[in-house]
Amino acid sequence: MTVVVLLGAPGAGKGTQAPILAEHLGVPVLASGNLLRAAVSARTALGAVADRYMSRGQLVPDETIVDIFLERLAADDATGGAILDGFPRTRGQARALDRALAARGSRVDLALHIDVPEELLVARMASRRICAANGHVYNIASNPPLVAGVCDLDGSALIQREDDSEETVRARMAQQIPPLMDVVDHYRANGVLRSVDGLRPIDEVTAGLLAATDRELGVA
Ligand code: AMP
Repeated sequence: MTVVVLLGAPGAGKGTQAPILAEHLGVPVLASGNLLRAAVSARTALGAVADRYMSRGQLVPDETIVDIFLERLAADDATGGAILDGFPRTRGQARALDRALAARGSRVDLALHIDVPEELLVARMASRRICAANGHVYNIASNPPLVAGVCDLDGSALIQREDDSEETVRARMAQQIPPLMDVVDHYRANGVLRSVDGLRPIDEVTAGLLAATDRELGVA
């Protein structure tokens, strides 16, 4: 199986790039934020716990996310591998992932870091929109849909995520960037980290990610 972890601060472009990488490699995207938002919408017990943290821009505790994420990774559609978007977010999660993969004779093959300076992320996220049906990501300034307010891919309405208000975005940056740097260090130490300049236009970031993927994984 091929496991690629996509790393980046909130707003760096993980949700935009993950489906492109997934299609390139023929594996699914597993997005922890989407898993958690689905649990919140479905009003499960887990969703109720997660919502308390998410609405404040805080990471949910490792014990709330690790088991459900690893269970998702063990599902049939991920036997060939997956693009991991939003997980791991802490060093503890990275270690739990390493252990779970090692038990299956596997490992994180590549960690791709989309690197964007923190001060630019807040502005980016003010203009971010996602579609109500499937979470497809747009930016009304830099990556608008063909028809304003409507998802190109499934026709559902574009909405602003509740946690994309400026105050919550600032909290998310403060809370989430230090543990992200721990995760970046973890994969650097394992020799599987590759960084791409996330300030470039979307298609150039895509090209950089695909080039690194092909080089590191030996995709033809
Ligand atoms: P995202 O869609 O990846 O930006 O995630 C939205 C929110 O879900 C984050 O701000 C966190 O509150 C929570 N979340 C997502 N993934 C994780 C994770 N791996 N660990 C802890 N919290 C997470």
